[in-house]
Amino acid sequence: MNISQKETLAALVSQPVKWNCLLNQYTSFSIGGPAEAVVTVDRREELPCLLSFFMKEKMQWQIIGRGTNLLIKDNGFPGVVLILGKEYRGISHNAEDSRNNIAIKAGGGCSLGRLSLNCIDRGLAGLEFACGIPGTVGGSVIMNAGAWGDELAAKIGSVTLVTAAGEQTIVRKDLDFGYRCWNNYGKFGDRAVVTEVVFELRQGDPERIRERCRFIQEQRRENQPKGYANAGSFFKNPVNDSAGRLIEASGLKGTKMGGAMVSEKHANFFVNYADATAADVISLMRNVQKKVKKDCGIDLEPEVHFF
Ligand SMILES: Cc1cc2nc3c(=O)[nH]c(=O)nc-3n(C[C@H](O)[C@H](O)[C@H](O)COP(=O)(O)OP(=O)(O)OC[C@H]3O[C@@H](n4cnc5c(N)ncnc54)[C@H](O)[C@@H]3O)c2cc1C
Repeated sequence: MNISQKETLAALVSQPVKWNCLLNQYTSFSIGGPAEAVVTVDRREELPCLLSFFMKEKMQWQIIGRGTNLLIKDNGFPGVVLILGKEYRGISHNAEDSRNNIAIKAGGGCSLGRLSLNCIDRGLAGLEFACGIPGTVGGSVIMNAGAWGDELAAKIGSVTLVTAAGEQTIVRKDLDFGYRCWNNYGKFGDRAVVTEVVFELRQGDPERIRERCRFIQEQRRENQPKGYANAGSFFKNPVNDSAGRLIEASGLKGTKMGGAMVSEKHANFFVNYADATAADVISLMRNVQKKVKKDCGIDLEPEVHFF
Protein backbone atom coordinates (compact mmCIF):
# COMPACT_ATOMS: atom_id res chain seq x y z
CA MET A 1 0.00 0.00 0.00
CA ASN A 2 1.40 3.41 -0.84
CA ILE A 3 1.17 6.45 1.45
CA SER A 4 -1.82 7.93 -0.32
CA GLN A 5 -3.71 4.62 -0.10
CA LYS A 6 -2.87 4.40 3.61
CA GLU A 7 -4.17 7.92 4.18
CA THR A 8 -7.40 7.22 2.30
CA LEU A 9 -7.95 3.97 4.19
CA ALA A 10 -7.46 5.70 7.55
CA ALA A 11 -9.88 8.47 6.52
CA LEU A 12 -12.63 6.02 5.51
CA VAL A 13 -13.10 4.50 8.96
CA SER A 14 -13.84 5.85 12.43
CA GLN A 15 -11.68 3.26 14.25
CA PRO A 16 -7.89 3.60 14.11
CA VAL A 17 -6.34 1.29 11.48
CA LYS A 18 -3.96 -1.33 12.90
CA TRP A 19 -0.95 -1.41 10.57
CA ASN A 20 1.24 -4.47 10.08
CA CYS A 21 -0.91 -6.31 12.56
CA LEU A 22 -0.36 -9.95 13.57
CA LEU A 23 -3.40 -12.06 12.76
CA ASN A 24 -2.72 -14.80 15.31
CA GLN A 25 -4.63 -12.67 17.84
CA TYR A 26 -7.73 -12.87 15.60
CA THR A 27 -7.85 -16.65 15.16
CA SER A 28 -8.89 -19.34 17.62
CA PHE A 29 -5.85 -21.37 16.44
CA SER A 30 -3.59 -18.47 17.60
CA ILE A 31 -1.77 -18.83 14.27
CA GLY A 32 -1.20 -16.33 11.47
CA GLY A 33 1.38 -13.78 10.34
CA PRO A 34 0.76 -10.06 9.80
CA ALA A 35 -1.80 -8.33 7.60
CA GLU A 36 -0.83 -5.02 6.08
CA ALA A 37 -3.78 -3.52 7.91
CA VAL A 38 -6.66 -4.62 10.13
CA VAL A 39 -9.76 -2.45 10.11
CA THR A 40 -12.79 -2.68 12.38
CA VAL A 41 -15.80 -1.33 10.51
CA ASP A 42 -18.05 0.23 13.14
CA ARG A 43 -20.43 2.28 10.97
CA ARG A 44 -22.72 1.07 8.22
CA GLU A 45 -21.80 3.87 5.84
CA GLU A 46 -18.12 2.86 5.98
CA LEU A 47 -18.33 -0.62 4.45
CA PRO A 48 -19.56 0.19 0.89
CA CYS A 49 -16.97 2.99 0.65
CA LEU A 50 -14.19 0.63 1.75
CA LEU A 51 -15.20 -2.06 -0.75
CA SER A 52 -15.39 0.48 -3.60
CA PHE A 53 -11.98 1.82 -2.60
CA PHE A 54 -10.44 -1.69 -2.60
CA MET A 55 -11.94 -2.39 -6.01
CA LYS A 56 -10.78 0.90 -7.51
CA GLU A 57 -7.25 0.50 -6.12
CA LYS A 58 -7.16 -3.27 -6.87
CA MET A 59 -6.25 -3.93 -3.23
CA GLN A 60 -6.50 -7.36 -1.63
CA TRP A 61 -8.87 -7.72 1.31
CA GLN A 62 -10.48 -10.38 3.45
CA ILE A 63 -13.31 -10.36 5.96
CA ILE A 64 -13.05 -12.39 9.14
CA GLY A 65 -15.47 -13.05 11.95
CA ARG A 66 -14.06 -14.56 15.12
CA GLY A 67 -11.47 -16.51 13.11
CA THR A 68 -12.71 -19.80 14.60
CA ASN A 69 -12.61 -21.69 11.33
CA LEU A 70 -9.46 -20.22 9.84
CA LEU A 71 -5.85 -21.13 9.22
CA ILE A 72 -3.87 -18.05 8.21
CA LYS A 73 -0.41 -18.44 6.65
CA ASP A 74 2.75 -17.73 8.66
CA ASN A 75 3.72 -14.96 6.27
CA GLY A 76 0.33 -13.37 6.83
CA PHE A 77 -1.94 -11.60 4.36
CA PRO A 78 -0.73 -8.92 1.95
CA GLY A 79 -3.78 -6.69 2.20
CA VAL A 80 -6.53 -5.40 4.47
CA VAL A 81 -8.46 -7.57 6.91
CA LEU A 82 -11.93 -6.34 7.80
CA ILE A 83 -13.81 -7.06 11.02
CA LEU A 84 -17.44 -6.02 11.50
CA GLY A 85 -17.79 -3.73 14.54
CA LYS A 86 -20.47 -1.92 16.57
CA GLU A 87 -23.31 -1.31 14.13
CA TYR A 88 -23.07 -4.87 12.80
CA ARG A 89 -23.40 -6.62 16.14
CA GLY A 90 -27.02 -5.92 17.10
CA ILE A 91 -30.00 -8.24 17.61
CA SER A 92 -33.67 -7.25 17.15
CA HIS A 93 -36.92 -9.21 17.36
CA ASN A 94 -40.20 -8.92 15.43
CA ALA A 95 -43.69 -9.97 16.52
CA GLU A 96 -45.05 -13.40 15.55
CA ASP A 97 -46.36 -13.55 11.94
CA SER A 98 -49.40 -15.40 10.59
CA ARG A 99 -47.33 -18.60 10.19
CA ASN A 100 -46.27 -18.44 13.88
CA ASN A 101 -42.71 -17.53 12.92
CA ILE A 102 -40.83 -14.92 14.92
CA ALA A 103 -38.19 -13.09 12.91
CA ILE A 104 -34.90 -12.36 14.67
CA LYS A 105 -32.53 -10.01 12.91
CA ALA A 106 -28.83 -10.23 13.80
CA GLY A 107 -25.84 -8.29 12.47
CA GLY A 108 -23.11 -10.16 10.60
CA GLY A 109 -20.62 -9.35 13.35
CA CYS A 110 -22.87 -10.55 16.19
CA SER A 111 -21.60 -13.53 18.16
CA LEU A 112 -23.60 -16.66 17.30
CA GLY A 113 -23.39 -17.83 20.91
CA ARG A 114 -24.80 -14.51 22.14
CA LEU A 115 -27.64 -14.74 19.60
CA SER A 116 -28.40 -18.29 20.64
CA LEU A 117 -28.49 -17.36 24.36
CA ASN A 118 -30.64 -14.30 23.62
CA CYS A 119 -33.19 -16.53 21.86
CA ILE A 120 -33.08 -19.09 24.65
CA ASP A 121 -33.78 -16.32 27.22
CA ARG A 122 -36.86 -15.32 25.20
CA GLY A 123 -38.10 -18.90 24.93
CA LEU A 124 -37.48 -19.05 21.17
CA ALA A 125 -36.69 -22.51 19.85
CA GLY A 126 -34.42 -23.37 16.91
CA LEU A 127 -30.93 -22.10 17.70
CA GLU A 128 -30.14 -24.27 20.74
CA PHE A 129 -27.67 -26.29 18.62
CA ALA A 130 -25.63 -23.11 18.11
CA CYS A 131 -24.89 -22.40 21.77
CA GLY A 132 -21.19 -23.06 22.09
CA ILE A 133 -20.32 -22.52 18.41
CA PRO A 134 -17.80 -19.72 18.86
CA GLY A 135 -18.16 -17.79 15.55
CA THR A 136 -20.03 -14.73 14.35
CA VAL A 137 -23.37 -14.78 12.53
CA GLY A 138 -21.68 -13.75 9.23
CA GLY A 139 -18.95 -16.39 9.40
CA SER A 140 -21.47 -19.01 10.47
CA VAL A 141 -23.74 -18.33 7.51
CA ILE A 142 -20.79 -18.68 5.13
CA MET A 143 -19.94 -21.99 6.85
CA ASN A 144 -23.57 -23.07 7.29
CA ALA A 145 -22.50 -23.93 10.82
CA GLY A 146 -24.27 -26.83 12.44
CA ALA A 147 -24.29 -29.42 15.16
CA TRP A 148 -26.51 -32.16 16.51
CA GLY A 149 -28.07 -32.79 13.09
CA ASP A 150 -29.18 -29.17 12.80
CA GLU A 151 -27.71 -26.33 10.74
CA LEU A 152 -28.18 -22.59 10.32
CA ALA A 153 -29.58 -22.90 6.79
CA ALA A 154 -32.82 -24.38 8.12
CA LYS A 155 -33.50 -21.29 10.26
CA ILE A 156 -32.61 -18.51 7.80
CA GLY A 157 -35.32 -16.24 6.35
CA SER A 158 -33.01 -13.87 4.49
CA VAL A 159 -29.41 -12.72 4.24
CA THR A 160 -28.25 -9.18 3.51
CA LEU A 161 -24.96 -8.76 1.67
CA VAL A 162 -22.83 -5.74 0.85
CA THR A 163 -20.48 -5.63 -2.16
CA ALA A 164 -18.72 -2.76 -3.89
CA ALA A 165 -21.90 -2.51 -6.02
CA GLY A 166 -24.18 -1.96 -3.02
CA GLU A 167 -26.52 -3.85 -0.69
CA GLN A 168 -28.89 -6.69 -1.53
CA THR A 169 -31.16 -8.91 0.52
CA ILE A 170 -31.58 -12.50 -0.61
CA VAL A 171 -34.63 -14.38 0.56
CA ARG A 172 -34.75 -18.01 1.62
CA LYS A 173 -36.01 -19.45 -1.68
CA ASP A 174 -32.96 -18.06 -3.51
CA LEU A 175 -30.43 -19.37 -0.98
CA ASP A 176 -28.76 -22.72 -1.56
CA PHE A 177 -26.71 -24.17 1.30
CA GLY A 178 -24.74 -27.41 1.51
CA TYR A 179 -22.85 -29.25 4.23
CA ARG A 180 -20.70 -26.56 5.91
CA CYS A 181 -20.96 -24.28 2.89
CA TRP A 182 -23.17 -21.80 1.11
CA ASN A 183 -23.33 -23.21 -2.43
CA ASN A 184 -24.49 -20.16 -4.36
CA TYR A 185 -22.68 -17.47 -2.31
CA GLY A 186 -20.49 -16.53 -5.32
CA LYS A 187 -23.56 -15.79 -7.43
CA PHE A 188 -24.37 -12.63 -5.46
CA GLY A 189 -21.32 -10.67 -6.43
CA ASP A 190 -17.62 -10.86 -5.93
CA ARG A 191 -16.57 -11.09 -2.27
CA ALA A 192 -19.84 -10.16 -0.60
CA VAL A 193 -19.90 -9.33 3.12
CA VAL A 194 -22.77 -10.78 5.16
CA THR A 195 -24.04 -7.80 7.12
CA GLU A 196 -27.41 -8.99 8.42
CA VAL A 197 -29.34 -12.24 8.75
CA VAL A 198 -33.00 -12.79 9.56
CA PHE A 199 -33.71 -16.07 11.34
CA GLU A 200 -37.21 -17.52 11.53
CA LEU A 201 -37.82 -19.18 14.87
CA ARG A 202 -40.80 -20.45 16.88
CA GLN A 203 -41.95 -19.85 20.42
CA GLY A 204 -41.08 -22.95 22.46
CA ASP A 205 -41.13 -24.28 25.99
CA PRO A 206 -38.45 -22.23 27.84
CA GLU A 207 -37.55 -25.06 30.24
CA ARG A 208 -37.10 -27.62 27.43
CA ILE A 209 -35.03 -25.16 25.41
CA ARG A 210 -32.77 -24.45 28.39
CA GLU A 211 -32.42 -28.15 29.14
CA ARG A 212 -31.40 -28.88 25.52
CA CYS A 213 -28.83 -26.10 25.60
CA ARG A 214 -27.40 -27.35 28.93
CA PHE A 215 -27.12 -30.86 27.48
CA ILE A 216 -25.34 -29.62 24.33
CA GLN A 217 -22.86 -27.54 26.31
CA GLU A 218 -22.13 -30.45 28.63
CA GLN A 219 -21.46 -32.72 25.63
CA ARG A 220 -19.07 -30.12 24.18
CA ARG A 221 -17.19 -29.91 27.48
CA GLU A 222 -16.92 -33.69 27.66
CA ASN A 223 -15.91 -34.36 24.05
CA GLN A 224 -13.83 -31.40 22.92
CA PRO A 225 -10.23 -30.58 23.85
CA LYS A 226 -9.76 -27.99 26.57
CA GLY A 227 -6.85 -25.66 27.16
CA TYR A 228 -5.32 -25.66 23.66
CA ALA A 229 -6.04 -23.30 20.79
CA ASN A 230 -7.88 -25.00 17.89
CA ALA A 231 -10.32 -24.33 15.06
CA GLY A 232 -13.01 -26.88 15.88
CA SER A 233 -13.45 -29.83 13.52
CA PHE A 234 -10.60 -29.71 11.03
CA PHE A 235 -12.14 -31.92 8.32
CA LYS A 236 -15.67 -32.28 7.00
CA ASN A 237 -17.31 -35.59 7.83
CA PRO A 238 -17.44 -37.92 4.80
CA VAL A 239 -20.92 -39.13 3.81
CA ASN A 240 -22.27 -41.58 6.44
CA ASP A 241 -19.04 -41.52 8.45
CA SER A 242 -17.10 -39.28 10.79
CA ALA A 243 -13.67 -37.81 10.15
CA GLY A 244 -12.83 -38.24 13.85
CA ARG A 245 -13.63 -41.96 13.73
CA LEU A 246 -11.47 -42.49 10.62
CA ILE A 247 -8.50 -40.58 12.06
CA GLU A 248 -8.75 -42.45 15.35
CA ALA A 249 -9.04 -45.80 13.52
CA SER A 250 -5.80 -44.94 11.69
CA GLY A 251 -4.11 -44.63 15.09
CA LEU A 252 -3.36 -40.94 14.62
CA LYS A 253 -4.59 -39.49 17.94
CA GLY A 254 -1.71 -37.64 19.56
CA THR A 255 0.33 -37.42 16.30
CA LYS A 256 2.50 -34.30 16.35
CA MET A 257 4.10 -32.08 13.70
CA GLY A 258 6.09 -29.23 15.22
CA GLY A 259 3.72 -27.55 17.66
CA ALA A 260 0.52 -29.00 16.12
CA MET A 261 -1.09 -32.20 17.37
CA VAL A 262 -4.11 -34.37 16.62
CA SER A 263 -6.09 -34.02 19.85
CA GLU A 264 -6.01 -37.02 22.20
CA LYS A 265 -9.61 -36.24 23.10
CA HIS A 266 -11.24 -35.73 19.70
CA ALA A 267 -9.30 -36.89 16.63
CA ASN A 268 -10.91 -34.36 14.27
CA PHE A 269 -9.54 -31.47 16.34
CA PHE A 270 -5.99 -30.30 15.62
CA VAL A 271 -4.60 -28.39 18.58
CA ASN A 272 -1.87 -25.81 18.84
CA TYR A 273 -0.07 -27.32 21.82
CA ALA A 274 3.28 -25.50 21.52
CA ASP A 275 3.47 -22.34 19.37
CA ALA A 276 2.45 -24.18 16.20
CA THR A 277 2.96 -22.50 12.85
CA ALA A 278 0.54 -22.74 9.92
CA ALA A 279 3.22 -24.88 8.22
CA ASP A 280 3.07 -27.36 11.16
CA VAL A 281 -0.72 -27.61 10.83
CA ILE A 282 -0.51 -28.11 7.07
CA SER A 283 2.12 -30.88 7.45
CA LEU A 284 -0.09 -32.55 10.05
CA MET A 285 -3.11 -32.23 7.75
CA ARG A 286 -1.23 -33.84 4.82
CA ASN A 287 0.02 -36.70 7.00
CA VAL A 288 -3.47 -37.41 8.32
CA GLN A 289 -5.01 -37.24 4.83
CA LYS A 290 -2.36 -39.61 3.45
CA LYS A 291 -2.75 -42.21 6.22
CA VAL A 292 -6.57 -42.16 6.16
CA LYS A 293 -6.54 -42.48 2.37
CA LYS A 294 -4.14 -45.44 2.61
CA ASP A 295 -6.08 -47.17 5.39
CA CYS A 296 -9.68 -46.45 4.34
CA GLY A 297 -9.53 -45.11 0.78
CA ILE A 298 -11.27 -41.90 1.85
CA ASP A 299 -10.17 -38.36 0.95
CA LEU A 300 -10.64 -36.05 3.91
CA GLU A 301 -11.59 -32.53 2.87
CA PRO A 302 -10.75 -29.64 5.22
CA GLU A 303 -13.66 -27.75 6.79
CA VAL A 304 -11.24 -25.03 7.91
CA HIS A 305 -10.76 -22.12 5.47
CA PHE A 306 -7.23 -21.04 4.52
CA PHE A 307 -5.80 -17.65 3.63
C1 LIG B 1 -14.03 -24.97 19.88
C2 LIG B 1 -14.74 -24.86 18.55
C3 LIG B 1 -15.95 -25.52 18.34
C4 LIG B 1 -16.61 -25.43 17.11
N1 LIG B 1 -17.79 -26.10 16.95
C5 LIG B 1 -18.43 -26.02 15.78
C6 LIG B 1 -19.67 -26.70 15.56
O1 LIG B 1 -20.20 -27.37 16.44
N2 LIG B 1 -20.26 -26.59 14.35
C7 LIG B 1 -19.72 -25.84 13.34
O2 LIG B 1 -20.32 -25.78 12.26
N3 LIG B 1 -18.57 -25.19 13.50
C8 LIG B 1 -17.91 -25.24 14.69
N4 LIG B 1 -16.73 -24.56 14.84
C9 LIG B 1 -16.14 -23.81 13.72
C10 LIG B 1 -16.55 -22.32 13.68
O3 LIG B 1 -16.86 -21.84 14.96
C11 LIG B 1 -17.71 -22.09 12.75
O4 LIG B 1 -17.41 -22.49 11.44
C12 LIG B 1 -18.13 -20.62 12.72
O5 LIG B 1 -19.33 -20.54 12.06
C13 LIG B 1 -17.12 -19.70 12.03
O6 LIG B 1 -17.48 -18.36 12.31
P1 LIG B 1 -16.37 -17.21 12.37
O7 LIG B 1 -17.08 -15.92 12.58
O8 LIG B 1 -15.33 -17.53 13.36
O9 LIG B 1 -15.80 -17.28 10.90
P2 LIG B 1 -14.27 -17.13 10.46
O10 LIG B 1 -13.52 -18.32 10.91
O11 LIG B 1 -13.77 -15.80 10.86
O12 LIG B 1 -14.43 -17.16 8.88
C14 LIG B 1 -14.90 -18.32 8.22
C15 LIG B 1 -15.14 -17.95 6.74
O13 LIG B 1 -16.23 -17.03 6.66
C16 LIG B 1 -15.81 -15.80 6.03
N5 LIG B 1 -16.52 -14.73 6.73
C17 LIG B 1 -16.49 -14.43 8.05
N6 LIG B 1 -17.35 -13.44 8.33
C18 LIG B 1 -17.93 -13.08 7.16
C19 LIG B 1 -18.92 -12.12 6.78
N7 LIG B 1 -19.49 -11.29 7.66
N8 LIG B 1 -19.26 -12.04 5.47
C20 LIG B 1 -18.70 -12.86 4.53
N9 LIG B 1 -17.76 -13.79 4.83
C21 LIG B 1 -17.40 -13.90 6.13
C22 LIG B 1 -14.30 -15.75 6.22
O14 LIG B 1 -13.67 -14.97 5.21
C23 LIG B 1 -13.94 -17.24 6.10
O15 LIG B 1 -13.90 -17.62 4.74
C24 LIG B 1 -16.04 -24.64 16.07
C25 LIG B 1 -14.84 -23.95 16.27
C26 LIG B 1 -14.19 -24.06 17.51
C27 LIG B 1 -12.91 -23.30 17.72
